[in-house]
Amino acid sequence: MKDSDIKPTTNDAGMPVSSDEFSLTVGQDGPILFHDHYLMEQMANFNREMIPDRQPHAKGSGAFGHFEVTADVSAYTKATLFQPGAKTDVLARFSTVAGESGSPDTWRDVRGFALKFYTDEGNYDMVGNNTPVFFLRDAMKFQDFIHSQKRRADNGLRDNDMQWDFWTLSPETAHQVTILMSDRGVPRSYRHMNGYTSHAYMWVNSEGERFWVKYHFKTDQGIEFLTQEEADEIAGCDADYHRRDLFNAIKEGNNPSWTLQVQIMPFAEAENYRFNPFDLTKVWPHEDYPPMEVGKLTLTRNPADFYTEIEQAAFEPNNMVPGIGPSPDKMLLARLISYSDAHRARLGVNYKQIPVNRPKCPVHSYSKGGTMRMDNVSDPVYKPNSKGGPQADPERYPEDAVWSADGKFMRSAYTLRKDDDDFIQPGTLVREVMNDAERDRLVANVVGHLKGGVSDPVLERALEYWRNIDKDVGARIAKGVKE
Ligand code: NDP
Repeated sequence: MKDSDIKPTTNDAGMPVSSDEFSLTVGQDGPILFHDHYLMEQMANFNREMIPDRQPHAKGSGAFGHFEVTADVSAYTKATLFQPGAKTDVLARFSTVAGESGSPDTWRDVRGFALKFYTDEGNYDMVGNNTPVFFLRDAMKFQDFIHSQKRRADNGLRDNDMQWDFWTLSPETAHQVTILMSDRGVPRSYRHMNGYTSHAYMWVNSEGERFWVKYHFKTDQGIEFLTQEEADEIAGCDADYHRRDLFNAIKEGNNPSWTLQVQIMPFAEAENYRFNPFDLTKVWPHEDYPPMEVGKLTLTRNPADFYTEIEQAAFEPNNMVPGIGPSPDKMLLARLISYSDAHRARLGVNYKQIPVNRPKCPVHSYSKGGTMRMDNVSDPVYKPNSKGGPQADPERYPEDAVWSADGKFMRSAYTLRKDDDDFIQPGTLVREVMNDAERDRLVANVVGHLKGGVSDPVLERALEYWRNIDKDVGARIAKGVKE
């Protein structure tokens, strides 16, 4: 670089400044002058550099890429991004859940797996995890759950007693806790984990036929994990291990990819399926609903500015495009409201005009004003109008991702079905999916966690919880904690 290539420093208004080093003073040794606006701007901007962490999922990493359809699923959805041959730009963000933005990447935790597809019919966001299920099935408990996984009020410490207290009083957590305590609780890197919608969604085809669907993004790098010992050691010497891995892999052209498979359930089958297929603590067995391939997600580009492109990225599961809709999953229905509310609180009402969140198709909405609006608004600013403003087109875009409901207003658990049990699926995982070595590590991980300051009554409940998942594993954990 030549000296002539170096640009003169300016302030934020673009005015050249006369010094990068010295404040404006009365004489060489005198007091600082109040009208040194450049110094003031530097200090004031610095004081406002940080925005609040996301509440859960604060520590994350992201990259850009594309999703390419490799199969024909047009019989199930008319969504343009899933039509044969379609290629759509994507932003991905991976995260831990409980830690703050500087926390170690290798703490045992569920990982977020969030995708934003910039489609020609608006942004489509999938906000999933690296596990196919979740701890809860009703959002009324979500806030308390996250509190229990974060820090105590009195000493500001994380607390295993608090975690097991909540989990054992909420047996619906058993499946997710089993996965969390298994090898999948600490992936080797973000590249070596799967992503799942976990929720069921609705797909609607061009004939208006409806289906229920679950997505599985299977890592093409293969599932790999860190043992507890490896994870602990890395946490102490490289808190950003997963962020570094993702960034360096893409920088070196070692672009990670995932194959999207979906499980499809015919609309009418949900009504009488043996367990509630909308219960987020359960998977649909592969045998009943075999996964079918849809396409490939590939990440190819790192962010140029981590703050503007990843920290300010706002994913919201309510962003659904024509051909895709919600399901009666109560956790999903609550998330459809909560995420956009969180973004308004954290980024401001016009967060969708931040470049990374901005749709790549035209926006013709009637929103106006608000803090930090970037886009000009033109008249008419109301609807209906006779001035040529945008009009909804129900023929072309019918409200077709719907189902029927009836009943008295109430606060209640889902209606129980024959196989609606909290322990069947984690039991299957432990007994039929895990091999001996995986089961050994599960037992060791749980024993280590329970030995980390869990009080006696909570411990007793935890042992009962594991006996309910699997008698033998429960007995081994009981033996382990007493050794
Ligand atoms: P399958 O034998 O067909 O599927 C078992 C699946 O378990 C594998 O395909 C793999 O999913 C996944 N798996 C392996 N090790 C772990 C682990 N430590 N933690 C979480 N998942 C793991 O059986 P079913 O479909 O009947 O399901 C049996 C159990 O497998 C379930 O109770 C559930 O715990 C687990 N599972 C099921 C999934 C599903 O959608 N049916 C998805 C993921 C887990 P993958 O190929 O996605 O890596």
